[in-house]
Amino acid sequence: MTDFTLDIYRTLLETLQAKGYRLISYREYVITRSRDLDEKFVILRHDVDAKPLNSLRTAQIEHALGAKATYYFRCGKESNNPEIIRAIVQLGHEIGYHYEDMSLCGGDPEKAYDHFKTWLDYFRQYYAVETICMHGAPTSQYDSKDLWKHYNYKDLNILGEPYFDTDFSDVFYLTDTGRCWDGYKVSVRDKIPGYQEEWTKKGLSWHTTPQLIRAIEADQLPKHVMMTTHPQRWTNDPKAWYLELVMQTTKNIIKRLWIKN
Ligand SMILES: [Zn+2]
Repeated sequence: MTDFTLDIYRTLLETLQAKGYRLISYREYVITRSRDLDEKFVILRHDVDAKPLNSLRTAQIEHALGAKATYYFRCGKESNNPEIIRAIVQLGHEIGYHYEDMSLCGGDPEKAYDHFKTWLDYFRQYYAVETICMHGAPTSQYDSKDLWKHYNYKDLNILGEPYFDTDFSDVFYLTDTGRCWDGYKVSVRDKIPGYQEEWTKKGLSWHTTPQLIRAIEADQLPKHVMMTTHPQRWTNDPKAWYLELVMQTTKNIIKRLWIKN
């Protein structure tokens, strides 16, 4: 089965369900604080960096399987598409704000906070947003999480931000950053410092989706997981698939050079 297609994404979810994992949104995780639960779950987090139509496709697959996911939308046109946001809400998923206000406002916290509040209100027209998630913006010198050194998102009735409100001593983190499952090696901001080394030592590291599926089948995946995917990478269209492969391979080479410096 070809990697990074919608078909293999569906198979991945079906494999998790067959192994007894409940597929939940980030909001559900924050509300239940499932640390002591015996139940197995995977938080389905999607960062809609671009190509929002692809997110509708994964949302439909999840809906058909009875799964709930969270879709984090950016304010820019490359991500923010009202029709698609509405359609994903209709499918019963959670919507959140994929914020990058510090990098958009040149690192000025006051401006960034106003910008953040404006866009939070915008997304709240479509869905009662209760969770937010930083967009990594690897080419920006600003880390948008730094906004929370000056302000508190809980004042805006936000319950959670995956980077701050996930108990990573209990929840294992998987991300398709770099268009593979071990891209933390080349990621600038999408990684969990302190825990990643430990997970790698335990052998919890896979490169391709077929390898990840085999690990799930062999009961090697921890019982509590957050899985971040960027739906723009997942497509059944051969031309778009090939373009994504070439672009991501180039990006990984550049990121590797940055990290070494
Ligand atoms: Zn992002």
